[in-house]
Parts: sequence; structure tokens; C-alpha cells
Amino acid sequence: MKKSFFAICTAVVVGFVWAVALCVQALSGAQAVSVFDGEMRIVVDAGHGGIDGGVTGRTTGAKESEINLAIAFKLSAVLEEMGFDVVMTRKTDAGLYDTTAKGFKKRDMQRRKEIILDAAPTMVVSVHQNYYPSKMQRGAQVFYAADNENGGRLATQIQAQMNKIYEAQGVKNRNAAQGDFFILNCAACPSVIVECGFLSSPKDEALLLSKAWQEKTARAIAAGVAAYFAGGAA
Ligand SMILES: [Zn+2]
Repeated sequence: MKKSFFAICTAVVVGFVWAVALCVQALSGAQAVSVFDGEMRIVVDAGHGGIDGGVTGRTTGAKESEINLAIAFKLSAVLEEMGFDVVMTRKTDAGLYDTTAKGFKKRDMQRRKEIILDAAPTMVVSVHQNYYPSKMQRGAQVFYAADNENGGRLATQIQAQMNKIYEAQGVKNRNAAQGDFFILNCAACPSVIVECGFLSSPKDEALLLSKAWQEKTARAIAAGVAAYFAGGAA
């Protein structure tokens, strides 16, 4: 009795790991395979919105908030294909605050926290774009809270997948980094900020404005999420 129970457990675990491995493989190709059961919920947070546009593209003046939202929609679609339940903190270009009165940013962040706490998610993935005074800085960087070990594991996996897509563009690899940001401390679950690229780099900016690159980015983030659940090293 005990033995067969153990055998069943082993079979289930092996089956799960195999299915996740298939999923990771599929994500690096064209199609995702549904392996998660919808009980795992991921909050996808598109950073900024409304009068807070975030940073702007050096060449085109494109708003970070709009690029974040476009990638967040694509990421949500891929995660849903994989079988996750997804909650987005915003689905329009409006901010999450009531008025434009003083203190709107604080209310906006508070509202995001409420959405996260209501969702009781397995993880939080916040989508942003970076900016640096020099045009030369390129690539993605993923942040996690110092005291969240699983957040660090998730960030490392997503960073590895983002490095892969930038490597093909001749961009050198970056490491995931610790950061003290509000959204990383809203819940105890692993939470990351994915800075998908630099809007201060005309080359990254051109990529980030293309729908094909946004899709590639969404799939790379999702592959990192799948690798995290597979427990593999980056
Ligand atoms: Zn941002």
C-alpha cells in the first residue's frame, strides 16, 4: 500500500516535471502547451499608466506605459495558454487612481497592492522599461526583493531567457539584481520587475516598439516562469 502510493507520487512528479520541460521547450519554439491547471494565479502588472507615462523613448518619445501594457497583454495570453489563471492590474492606458490630485502615484501603487492581495497569486510579474543617460546600455534586467529567495530564483530564470533573446542582437548578458521597489514587497510570493529593455537606447527602443519583439519578450518571460516551476538552474 505504502509502496504503491510512493510509486504513484513519483509518477505524478516525474510526469509534471516532464510536462513542464515540454512546455519550456515549446515556448522556445512557436507554440505553448497547456500544463498548468488554472489554480496557479499570476498577477501581471503593466507599470505606470494615465498621466504617469513612465520613461519615454529617446528617438520616438514613445511612452513606457504603452509598451508595458502591450507586452503585459501578450504575456498574459501566453501564460493563459500555459494554463495559468492571470490577473492584470490594468487593461487600459488609464492609471489606477481616482483623480489627478496630489498623491495620485501613491494611490495608484496602493490600488496595485489591493489587486495583488485580492488575487492571492502564486507570483507577481511587473513589466517595465529602463532608461539610462548613456545610449549604450542595452538589454533586459530583472529585479527581486532581497529577502525573497524564491523571487531571486524566478528573477534568475527570467533573466536567463531574456539574455537569450538579446544575445542574438549582440547584447551582453546581465544578471538579475536586488531592488527595493514597492511592487516587490506587496505580497510574500515571488515577485519580480522585468525591465524589458532600455528606451534610452535607440536600438532597444526600435525593438521594443515592434510587435514581433514584444511577442518574443512575452514568450521569454513565460519561459522563465515555466523554468522556475520546473526547478531547473538558469
Ligand atoms: Zn517603469
